[in-house]
This record gives sequence, C-alpha cells and structure tokens, in this order.
Amino acid sequence: MVSEETSKLELGLKCPMCGSNLQLIENSTYVVLGCPHCKVYTRMTKKHIYRSYINYEGKYVHLKWTELIKELYIRISGRSHQESSTT
Ligand SMILES: [Zn+2]
Repeated sequence: MVSEETSKLELGLKCPMCGSNLQLIENSTYVVLGCPHCKVYTRMTKKHIYRSYINYEGKYVHLKWTELIKELYIRISGRSHQESSTT
C-alpha cells in the first residue's frame, strides 16, 4: 500500500466567512481550497486543471495559477451560502 502524499499550504487569501487564512491542499488526484475553521472546502481534479489551466509555450509549461485560485475562491464564496456540501 502506498500512502497518498498530501501537501498543505497556507495562503494569504482570507476566508470569505471568517477571515482566517485559507489552505490549499494537494494530493495525487485533487487540489483543494478550504477553510479549516468553517470546514468549507472546494476541490478540483488535477485532470481538469491540466486541461483548463495549463499553457504550453514551446518547451515551457505555464500554470495559470492566479486564474485557478480565483476560480476556487469564487467556488468557496458560493459555498458559504449553502450549508450542505455536495460533491
Ligand atoms: Zn472560514
């Protein structure tokens, strides 16, 4: 059994509900943005990220990081209005 590698990153972005720093969690399948205090999370598959947020410029791979974070942030703001999380 291979344990899933998870990395956690605290961002300067503030939670729209409580104002604490949001966390970016990444494992082999998903990138998750969430607030550990409000227990609100939104996730995106890496497959989707590779499809929508990566530019190939010659031999360089450019991740549209700001756009990705913005999209996740919009999703999490939307989540704050609906209590139940549907995945
Ligand atoms: Zn919060």
